[in-house]
Amino acid sequence: MGARYNLKQVVTANEVLARIAKARNEAIKQWFDPARFTVRFDLDGCLLDNGPRTLAILGHFIRHSTRLSWDDLQRAEMLDRLSDFVRRGQVAYAPEENWRLVTGESGLSFKDVWVGYWRLNFFTNVWLDYDRPFPGAVDFAAGLDAMGVRPTYLTGRHTPRATSEFPDGMEHGTRRSLSAYRFPHGSMFFKERFELSDVIYKARHFKEYGRADGVDFPIAIFDNEPAIIEEITRVMIGELQVPFFVPVLVETTSGTSARLPPQALVLRGFNS
Ligand SMILES: [Mg+2]
Repeated sequence: MGARYNLKQVVTANEVLARIAKARNEAIKQWFDPARFTVRFDLDGCLLDNGPRTLAILGHFIRHSTRLSWDDLQRAEMLDRLSDFVRRGQVAYAPEENWRLVTGESGLSFKDVWVGYWRLNFFTNVWLDYDRPFPGAVDFAAGLDAMGVRPTYLTGRHTPRATSEFPDGMEHGTRRSLSAYRFPHGSMFFKERFELSDVIYKARHFKEYGRADGVDFPIAIFDNEPAIIEEITRVMIGELQVPFFVPVLVETTSGTSARLPPQALVLRGFNS
């Protein structure tokens, strides 16, 4: 999984800010109302590191799961190993990989039980306080806000829905954690159904946007999924003809792969 792109597309955080300032000027020339300019930030893997959330759930699993046949000593040993990994920041993205790292090959027989447990907990409000902003993410968003380009949030996290596999949604916990980390206040857009693909959801969001003459006007998107950056570039620059739109891949971890269109920028960290 990952993005294929030309190294010339890699930019620093300041260069991204300069590109957005330029886009803002272009948009003003075309008579768009500057008070409405925004950017859309993805959350998971873009502004927020979810690794600590997975490790917190793993700690709970090791401590409490009755499906694990480990005795107290084995559990204590695994919890020690887990805190070592957390301390050293060696957190992987996939739950399977974290399991392998922490327990070693010997624990693999419980992997499926763990992944099931992880899934039941990960997509809920309960553990969202464990997410951590990536270094520089809060200041970067605040910098845009200061430029007069308001940060807004477009996430694949879902709203509550009675018929969903995870009916409580993730909205409440998301709002709580973003304000706890002091991300600038801004509109948040959630998926209405857990089961919907993020690529389809986000593409539709931008398409509806172009038609609706919405209350704000997004001039950039930040996302860690190459397939989303590819698709939104196609929609905004190709279909809706907004040539100054700035698509930015934030290169962290990803679950999709794509060749990035030449208009996309690649940011290897908000402090880069
Ligand atoms: Mg993401």
